[in-house]
Amino acid sequence: MPTVSFYTLGCRLNFADTGAVQDEFSERGYTIVPFGQASDVTVINSCSVTEEADRKCRQIARRAHRANPAGFVIVTGCYAQLRPDQLSEIDGVDAVVGTAEKFRIFEVLPSFTRGATTQIAVSCIDEPIPFGPAASGRERTRAFLKIQDGCDYQCAFCTIPQARGASRSHDPSAIVEQAKQLAAAGFAEVVLSGVNIGLYQHGDYTLIDVLRRLDRETSVQRFRISSVEPNLLTDEIVDFVAGSRAFMRHFHIPLQSGDDEILGRMRRRYRRDLYADRVAHIRSRLPTAAIGADVIVGHPGESDKHFEATRQFIRSLPVSYLHVFPFSERRGTVAANAGDGVAPEVRKSRCKALRALSAEKAASFLQLNGGRRSTVVWEEGRDGGLLGYTENFIRLRRAELDESLIGQIERVVVGVDGVATPLGAATTV
Ligand code: SF4
Repeated sequence: MPTVSFYTLGCRLNFADTGAVQDEFSERGYTIVPFGQASDVTVINSCSVTEEADRKCRQIARRAHRANPAGFVIVTGCYAQLRPDQLSEIDGVDAVVGTAEKFRIFEVLPSFTRGATTQIAVSCIDEPIPFGPAASGRERTRAFLKIQDGCDYQCAFCTIPQARGASRSHDPSAIVEQAKQLAAAGFAEVVLSGVNIGLYQHGDYTLIDVLRRLDRETSVQRFRISSVEPNLLTDEIVDFVAGSRAFMRHFHIPLQSGDDEILGRMRRRYRRDLYADRVAHIRSRLPTAAIGADVIVGHPGESDKHFEATRQFIRSLPVSYLHVFPFSERRGTVAANAGDGVAPEVRKSRCKALRALSAEKAASFLQLNGGRRSTVVWEEGRDGGLLGYTENFIRLRRAELDESLIGQIERVVVGVDGVATPLGAATTV
């Protein structure tokens, strides 16, 4: 039986895409083996969100070839779509497959036979491309279900629209069906993923319609919404989550900057007042909801004054954690050619400052939740105990290791030290 191995870089969406490609290989009789072991084919699903992600992909491609000199190496994903020329020059890369071709590997590559030159199957994605359904969750207790792909926005720093194309959404009935299958396969939690899921639109259906159907028509015990742009996170969505059966009180809302001038430079579609208003509305409906924010530091034009405004703004907001990224120049973006870049060491020190602020926010959030009841899905065993997440995304530890609980939901009391006091099994949230 032929063998195939996979390596995925980047976001949850990419992991979901890899899941769909894995299914295709399995259906064709391939055995999936761990990356690094001998395999006939290796598929690397790349990311291109930063220069570092590109570098890592090149390194993984070389590693795949070294581990398997006779094996056939395919690179797909965002980096493959954006820079097929660069990838084709790497010794050992046999094929580069683009975004539109990712779910048609067996169609676009006639055989997996190594040749003198690299096969390139990358088409232009300026025209609309079909939605590629995907869900992942092989080795996880949480499954990622892709409901939307691509983006119609043009943020100055971002290459995703170039790499993944325009926004497109999955059929709502098919989403409900996939969620039912994931529940039947034993996943306690399903994370709805997409590039910009607030743009979800399928016929007359918008995001709120899909959320309502999933809550009503499936038996999935927990849903999470991966991330929604602040200008697309409506009161209706927040209010729905507050009263829903299975949607977790957890919102991830990209902020990127807390300074209006920089938000303008970034071509973001909101300003800080709108962001603060969204956070206030969530807090008024769900006082203990988790609220996460992405922030980019060192965007071109970001002076000390702009950065300080961002820091003070975040300090004033009741958010629970931050994901902080240093700005990375991406070829072909407006920001890469801005000409007033911030020095790398300044980006680094701003990152450090905001990560320290994130740790303070997480500690206060844990304090706020200490002594309260919640439920946890135990995800993995570690150091003689278990680790898992509460409904509002607090990572808790269970002191006793009981592997039969992995993937199960347990009722607990949240400890301020991050340790759970178990109250017994829970069948519903
Ligand atoms: S909303 Fe902006 S940052 Fe997010 S994927 Fe679209 S263009 Fe990129």
